[in-house]
Amino acid sequence: MELRLYDTLTREKRVFRPLDSARVRMYVCGPTVYDFAHIGNARPVIVFDVLFRLLRHLYGAKHVKYVRNITDVDDKINARAAERGVPIRDLTEETYKNFKDDVAALGCLEPTVEPRATEHIAEMKTLIERLVESKHAYVAEEHVLFAVSSMPDYGKLSNRSLDEMIAGARVEVAPYKRNATDFVLWKPSKPGEPSWPSPAGIKAPGRPGWHIECSAMSWKHLGEVFDIHGGGIDLVFPHHENEIAQSRCAFHTGAMANYWMHNGFLQVEGEKMSKSVGNFLTINDQLDHWGGSVLRLNMLKTHYRQPIDWTQTNLKEMGRELTRWTDLTQSNSEDDQDGVRTIVEALNDDLNTADAITQLRGFYKSKNVSALRVGMELLGLSTDPKSIQGRKHKRMYVEAGHISITGQSVQLTIAPGSIEKLIAARNSARSARNFSEADRIRDELATMGVVLKDSKDGTTWELAR
Ligand code: AMP
Ligand code: ZN
Repeated sequence: MELRLYDTLTREKRVFRPLDSARVRMYVCGPTVYDFAHIGNARPVIVFDVLFRLLRHLYGAKHVKYVRNITDVDDKINARAAERGVPIRDLTEETYKNFKDDVAALGCLEPTVEPRATEHIAEMKTLIERLVESKHAYVAEEHVLFAVSSMPDYGKLSNRSLDEMIAGARVEVAPYKRNATDFVLWKPSKPGEPSWPSPAGIKAPGRPGWHIECSAMSWKHLGEVFDIHGGGIDLVFPHHENEIAQSRCAFHTGAMANYWMHNGFLQVEGEKMSKSVGNFLTINDQLDHWGGSVLRLNMLKTHYRQPIDWTQTNLKEMGRELTRWTDLTQSNSEDDQDGVRTIVEALNDDLNTADAITQLRGFYKSKNVSALRVGMELLGLSTDPKSIQGRKHKRMYVEAGHISITGQSVQLTIAPGSIEKLIAARNSARSARNFSEADRIRDELATMGVVLKDSKDGTTWELAR
């Protein structure tokens, strides 16, 4: 099967045809760097990393260019730096470094280019000048605004009419706007805020709006029209709608990107993540509890367009599953091209990672070591048992025949299989009412650090802590 991708703009799954197969180009909106990234932010990072890996597999690593920007000029950054009393640059550098560490731990490849907004002010100003000249933008009270009414196609991506956009107006109302939906390309800076000489004849120094940043950076690194543009579903409106308006009107093109891809939202334990609810999880603190591969598997077991409910129960289950897989992949085997083909086939169907993971389960069941290993590698899942460990917390997965403990190394003096045999012997002794023998076996296991638990469903064991 050829690669097919769901395009938000045309609302259909289409065969992916790059403009130039020697130069496949993808842009994904990256983080605004003012605080630790949360686990919801990890979703586009992981999803588009899988797509990057797939494209590299299909077209060759040298023929794929993946650009993920860093938004390092933004009101939230200014506010946070003032709150903490640190220079803006220190805040953005520190946050960027943390972000890099987080995404590396999640098993993501580095994008080909990670452009920073502050290094592309010249390109932004060029775009703004062009838009003003062609009457797609106007100057008002030292702001430059995009005139939405100048673009008949505006609203196509989010499928909204102008009326709906105004009614749902989360758009900022300001007296200097000709229309409520017009959006800021450039605005004046207050003293102390980052500023640059303004475009379009404006005397006061200013700074760019958020949307123009991505139009400028994608232009600089990928050209006027490119293949794939991605991000979370929340970015469809207004951010991506506005990016399309700016780029298409500045370059007089019919498209900005040919495939618009959006990942669904992630919530935590059934609720929207928020600081006030107290369920706000950063990638960084999740990595204390779980290895990057567990987080990655938990993210990929749901298709990227579906919503995800991020729960501890699911993470535990993924931890156990990954333990079994990494155990099996420790045995030697040849690379298996059928394994690669099966996983690529699943991913070619609009990045169906849920199906790919079902295939990995099949490989595990049939003890197809090589297919499991190459399949995991294609999805960016580490086969190193250490990738299951959280950085700080000790966590234990115990089940029949398997044992692995994260965060500590444990010397077991008995193989898990032998534990099961002793439990069976103890059960026989109990059935024969030979309680002294049953107790002796329990004590023998206890001296080896294995504690038995009896319940109506049978006997289980765990390690003494
Ligand atoms: P931001 O730094 O808020 O602009 O977000 C960076 C990326 O994370 C964007 O692609 C967002 O769409 C995405 N994102 C933010 N919150 C979530 C969430 N809860 N679930 C999935 N994606 C999210
Ligand atoms: Zn963007």
